[in-house]
Parts: sequence; structure tokens; C-alpha cells
Amino acid sequence: MKKALAGEGLGFAEGVEFTRTPISEIYEILAVTDKVRDHFKGSEVDLCSIVNAKSGICAENCSFCSQSSHYETGVESYPMIEASDISGAAAKAEALGAREFSIVTSGTKVSGPEEIATLVSALTEMRAAGEMERCASIGNVSRDSLLKLKEAGLQSFHHNLETSRSFFPEVCTTHEYDEDIASIKAAKELGLYVCSGGIFGLGESFEQRVELAVTLRELGVDSVPINFLDPRPGTPLEKAKNLSPLECLKIIALFRLMLPTTDIVVCGGRPKNLGHLQPLIFAAGANGMMIGNYLTTPGRDATDDLKMLAELGLKPRGH
Ligand code: SF4
Repeated sequence: MKKALAGEGLGFAEGVEFTRTPISEIYEILAVTDKVRDHFKGSEVDLCSIVNAKSGICAENCSFCSQSSHYETGVESYPMIEASDISGAAAKAEALGAREFSIVTSGTKVSGPEEIATLVSALTEMRAAGEMERCASIGNVSRDSLLKLKEAGLQSFHHNLETSRSFFPEVCTTHEYDEDIASIKAAKELGLYVCSGGIFGLGESFEQRVELAVTLRELGVDSVPINFLDPRPGTPLEKAKNLSPLECLKIIALFRLMLPTTDIVVCGGRPKNLGHLQPLIFAAGANGMMIGNYLTTPGRDATDDLKMLAELGLKPRGH
């Protein structure tokens, strides 16, 4: 714990050793990770929310994703929505208590000047409307487009690596891991706050979870979104088993111990995988969570999440 409290984080070998801790010791682990979270993050919790601004028809083949055109999933597909619909969704999320709002689009990247123009308008409207922090998750975009978006008010860039480099070929074969790394580096170079994490429960090994944490630390990401697989009908992983709630807590704890000063935000798959143990994500080390609906699956009622925070003695950041 001393190392984590000093802000250093476990090394690869220590991380792997940690993953071998029996699950029966989870409450000893939570006692440590809760202290580390409290030391660096205090009692404030980051709440973020998203809009799925362009859905489906994605040319990539990520094995967990219902928006891939490689699978018959029946997911709703639509082109980029209007800028006013994006800023309207942001206003609704702010009213629910979210501090950060992310515009998410399906696909390898936003395609062409029209989509960039829509995003520029949406960001401009959001900036004029208030204090909400503005994020985008729009695939692998060029440095020039990112710069345009930054000038329009983009503060944060989200781009998940999804899993470790060694497991990535099992998850996606339509683009290279290095393309994702390059996008993250470009956003860091432009001074954007960078969120990058992954999705767990795809069949990755404990070592591969540690490998992902090391890569994210090397990249210096500011926030790590942690998603848990909610198997989608029609995808190659439709029959995958959910992780146990205790294993989910151990994954969050691993990331808190390996990246002690980084924001750790629990996102998709929370209700489905953690069930009644959702309040323990903060003891495990998370200092943020996504509220409202996820990309293609419903979240739980945001008022229940706010009530949970109040009962835990935590409060949303900025409120
Ligand atoms: S995760 Fe993103 S890139 Fe992969 S298939 Fe889904 S929408 Fe496409």
C-alpha cells in the first residue's frame, strides 16, 4: 500500500502477483484500495454521461460490439444526429447531475468535413450553454480535426484500447493496436484530457489485464474507463459468461493499485456485472462512474446512482 499511497503504482510483476490473490481476500484488498482512492481523490465522484450520436454500421469487427456491421445484432443504426440534438442531450445529462458529457460515434473514425462541422457546432453550443465538461469518443481522428474540435471547446478525448496488445488480435482484426495508440498520443500532444481504458470479460487473462494497465500508465492517460462485457446477441461473445461481481471489484482494485493517481471510471456493464455490489466500486478504487444509458444497453436510473452516492457519504464532483 505504501507504494500506491506514494503515487507510484505496482509494476508488472507485482500486478500479476496481485491478480493471484484469492478472491476470499477481497475485503482486505478493498480496505487498501479505499484508502488509496480517498488519499488521491477524496469524497468527490466524477459523473459522466454519453450520447450515441451515430449508431451502428461500423466497418470494424470488435467481437463484443453490437454496432459492428460484421454481425447480425438488430441494433438501431442511424447517421450522425443534428448538433442541436447532441447539445440537447448534454443539457438533459447535466440536469441529472453529470459533470462530463461525451459525444460518441460508431465507426473507425468520423467521416469527412460534414461530421466534423456537426461536432464543432455541438461543442460550440455546449460551451455556450454552461459549465459541463466536453468530451468526444469518435474513433481515430486526424490531428487537424482534433485541433478544430479543441478550438470549438473539446476538453477531453476518449479512445479505449479495449484490451491488451497481446489479446487485441482475438478481439479485433480490422485495425492495428498501434492506430489506437497513435490517436491517444495525438490527443495527449494537443493537451487534451485523455480517457482510455478497456472492456473486461472478453476471455483475457489476468496477465493481460495487468499488461493493459502498464500500457495505459506508459501513455500517461488521465482517466481509465472500465467496462464489463454485457454479452450482446448476434456478436461472437453472445454466450460469454458475465464476470462475478467480486472479480469485477478485483479488476477495479488492480487498476487503482497500478494507476493510483489516475481517474478510474466504471462505465458499461456495471448493473449487469456488479448487481447488488455496485456500491463497492468506490472502495475498490473507482472515483467516477457513468450515469444514464450506455451506448446500446440501458443503464440504471440516475436518481438511484445519486442516492447511492449520498448513502455512501460521497458526492458528485462540482455539486
Ligand atoms: S467498438 Fe467501436 S470500432 Fe469496434 S465495432 Fe463497435 S463501434 Fe466499431
